[in-house]
Amino acid sequence: MTTAQNNKKNNSTMSTNTTPAGNCGCNAPKPSPAYPAQVTGMDILARALRMVGIDTMYGLVGIPVTDFSYIAQDRGIRFIGFRHEQQAGMAAATHGYLTATPGVLLTVSSLGFLNGLTATANATVNCYPMIQISGSSVREPIDLLQGTYEGLDQLNIAKPLVKAAYRVNKPQDIPTAVVRAYRAAISGRPGGVYLDVTTPCLGAIMDSAEAEKLFFEPVDLCPAAPPAPAAVTRAMQLIASAKKPAIIIGKGAAYAKVEDKLDKFVKATGIPYLPMSMAKGVLPDNGPLSALSCRSTVMEESDVVILAGARLNWLLSRGQGKWNPDTKFVQLDIEPTEIDCNRHISAPVIGDLSSTLDAMLKALPDYKMSMDPAWVPSLQTQTKEKNAKFAQRLTDNANAQPMNHWTALSAIKPVLEANPDVILVNEGANTLDDTRDAVDMSLPRHRIDCATWAIMGMGMGSAIGAAVATGKSVVAIEGDSAFGFSGMDFSTICRFKLPVTVVIFNNGGIYNGIGVNLSGNGDPAPTTLDVTARYDKLGDAFGAKTYYVTTPSELSAALNEAIALRGPVLIDVQLGADSGKESGHIGYLNPEALEHITV
Ligand code: ADP
Ligand code: MG
Repeated sequence: MTTAQNNKKNNSTMSTNTTPAGNCGCNAPKPSPAYPAQVTGMDILARALRMVGIDTMYGLVGIPVTDFSYIAQDRGIRFIGFRHEQQAGMAAATHGYLTATPGVLLTVSSLGFLNGLTATANATVNCYPMIQISGSSVREPIDLLQGTYEGLDQLNIAKPLVKAAYRVNKPQDIPTAVVRAYRAAISGRPGGVYLDVTTPCLGAIMDSAEAEKLFFEPVDLCPAAPPAPAAVTRAMQLIASAKKPAIIIGKGAAYAKVEDKLDKFVKATGIPYLPMSMAKGVLPDNGPLSALSCRSTVMEESDVVILAGARLNWLLSRGQGKWNPDTKFVQLDIEPTEIDCNRHISAPVIGDLSSTLDAMLKALPDYKMSMDPAWVPSLQTQTKEKNAKFAQRLTDNANAQPMNHWTALSAIKPVLEANPDVILVNEGANTLDDTRDAVDMSLPRHRIDCATWAIMGMGMGSAIGAAVATGKSVVAIEGDSAFGFSGMDFSTICRFKLPVTVVIFNNGGIYNGIGVNLSGNGDPAPTTLDVTARYDKLGDAFGAKTYYVTTPSELSAALNEAIALRGPVLIDVQLGADSGKESGHIGYLNPEALEHITV
């Protein structure tokens, strides 16, 4: 133990001793009556978090939160220390999504706060519950712009990017602030919450007897929100009248853990379903009623579509484009302002999905479905044709040398499908799109990806959050570019000995490695990275088991071994530099400037 660590241990022991016995799970001795025991804001914060059930915190410490992290660890909150706050935030968000309780991120002031805020903003957009707790500098010189250490008006910067933001200035307010932050993160549509705790508040000292009076047991932290009966009736009437109905399952349904209820509804009605990316596996991708391969047909032909925890946002062409203008929508969502946002919604049902599906299942015997008997068989025929074509593509590429994305995926697909309980984290452009298409999921909440914003740089954090929150094995399939955003946090996987395998598809670039520098000045093109880079050596530096693979059989063997190992593994997959196209499946979103440049 270094001197610094010793100092921290002593600090932590000191505060343990001054905390009243029996209130924090540690066997603290009773304080001497001659000297009233005292606690700091940090003790109160740790205890307030424990009282709402927080048992894990992700973060990166420094002034002014280091002592707090030691105290929290001492009080039974597992602390997962990262190399970059953004990744710690991605981990907290994934923890929140998988457990349906807020994930907690701890950051230092100014830059640490800003780095973490990107993840909190991303969590808000994705409806993941999380709380970013950040230390902040003394208020007065910040407000007077007097130039103080890491002085930044963090609360006001956070406000437009999060669901709710609070500042605590005095220790007496900490328990209330924590409960409010928790409720804000989890209630209604979940999201990111910012909790600003000033340095004086963290360091403030109170008599513990006084502090004791501040705590209360919050009642019903996440109340059910059942839908209005009239809304359920309206929706059921429309569904019963449909000739070609379909259910689009979104990650809101995965979050709400309603797979059993959805399964009952689908089985009872015979309505086919189409999962959004992170909802793959809520119901099995390859089940008889899965319309996963018939997305265009659903958009063009369905007369009634039920959106179950899915938004009609850009990922569903905002209800425009291919969508049939006559399609009617039933939307099951917890957020009333989502309704009518891109298309007229004929039957909104506002409530938590669990209560909503209960109400719909209860009503179901009163309705007779009028589904066209040819609808499901036609989707099944189409599914067969499309799947055969897709399988052919994998077979055609299975032995390509150098490997391309499909070669690698032809090796990975059978291994992952034989290990359905492995959580798949996935980011990149082609690596994301092709993996999503290739790997069928059969269990809910087993696919975590760049989601609503389609951002890069969520991989290591999400893999760590998933492994810590569930204890399950995780495989992260990463493009080389995507991995670069968060690669240093592979070392966090190693330090915490997590059962995470990181698979890097190295094609040497953003999209691919064959970009041409139009100026001819010898610099790499903007999209060019390094196709000869040996990412496996990065794993060696931190003691992971590593592989460098150039053939599908090597890849398949490595992945099987890695999953069996249940420890940190890095597999560097050598692809050809020409594998992959610009922006993967969403190239159409690029402005078309390059066509106008004459080289
Ligand atoms: P996807 O990208 O999979 O379509 P989105 O994130 O766009 O998913 O949509 C998820 C939707 O689920 C959001 O509109 C959100 O309000 C809703 N939602 C989240 N939690 C619940 C819940 N418990 N009950 C009902 N709806 C929910
Ligand atoms: Mg690449």
